[in-house]
Amino acid sequence: MRYFPAMAHDQRQAANMRWLGAAQLVEVVRSEPGITRAAAAQRLGIGSGGATELVARMRQALLLDETPAPAQGRGRPTTVLGPHARGPLVLAADLRATDWRLALAGIDGVPKVVTQADYAAEQLGPVLGQLADAIGRIYRRNAKRLRAIAVAVAGTVSDAKLVQFTSRGWNDVDLSVLAAKIPDRAGIPLLLGNDATLAGLAEARSGAARSAATALCLIVAQGIGGALIVNGEPLNGAHGAAGEYGHIPFGDQALDCPCGSRGCWDLTVDGRALARHRGDAPPEDPVAYVHDLNAHAGRDGATRRAFEAVATSLGRGVGGLVNLHDPEVVTLGGVASLLRANAAKAFDDAYREGLMAFRKDAPPPVRDAQHGEDGPLHGAVARALDHITSAAGLADWVERQRV
Ligand SMILES: [Zn+2]
Repeated sequence: MRYFPAMAHDQRQAANMRWLGAAQLVEVVRSEPGITRAAAAQRLGIGSGGATELVARMRQALLLDETPAPAQGRGRPTTVLGPHARGPLVLAADLRATDWRLALAGIDGVPKVVTQADYAAEQLGPVLGQLADAIGRIYRRNAKRLRAIAVAVAGTVSDAKLVQFTSRGWNDVDLSVLAAKIPDRAGIPLLLGNDATLAGLAEARSGAARSAATALCLIVAQGIGGALIVNGEPLNGAHGAAGEYGHIPFGDQALDCPCGSRGCWDLTVDGRALARHRGDAPPEDPVAYVHDLNAHAGRDGATRRAFEAVATSLGRGVGGLVNLHDPEVVTLGGVASLLRANAAKAFDDAYREGLMAFRKDAPPPVRDAQHGEDGPLHGAVARALDHITSAAGLADWVERQRV
């Protein structure tokens, strides 16, 4: 990271120390949106005088603002803390199999989609060019405020490369091109992540796994992915490519996977698996296929059996992963919750059967994810905000306001 290249090391450390309390306050505001100043002071264990001074300093730095809180009982009037109208912004991108979306968020972490487009290109190059142009336009409109970009990709990301975009058969694509229209001097980092990992991060920070110290967050779209989140952070692996749950051999050993391996779980837990069990051709859009089948009430025996087979594979795998990771809670995102809902008994039986005996009495709850389709965007926002709301990130923001 290049914060204040012109500053000496000890000056930089002093600046970071100065913004430590501010970073802690931002963390409280992020984890409890709409919190009052009085409650935030209590969380931080500081007195009301200290809180007043800290908030005033952060208002002046365009980081936080306050609005009067609705009167409650006989207590002294207080204020609600929120992002400053001219405060820092992050840009989150969600690159999916057939479309992309861009959303802006302030330090309250709520993404607002600002532009989106479908694409049908055979090559990824033009799509990335289009996305880079859109990112450049948003940067120019918010040049003083935009401080980080995070991209969620529906594929395997390793370092700065998209190594596998299964749904389109694209491999080894350099994603740093997405920041091509942003000048280096802006010092804006481009953070990349797998969509399932980021959706898991979102569930752990502000969704169905909130407050769990160890959470396993799974998501089914085309195939299954996810993340193990420990104390609010995903286990990323050495190259950021961990969490490829779909490529554990929990599937049918007779099936070759496009990833290069065999028997992958991916192939038995999604719309492609449902189609195979029903004798249909592989669906163009496996997610839409699940939604279609789900919408058809009064289904035939073949469809019911297909849902049971897929829910069984899902449940058995979740049991195995619980044995592996010992999470407090498991969340199911994407169409996984629909797959379970259509064959709840098959899922539960397989889940329990897959658990080691000593876990069967009190298995961790398996909850539906809360962020739905927006999980990757929420996760990308969280990742970008982590970067800019550290003490060093806040000190950098303040320094740039002066220039
Ligand atoms: Zn595979």
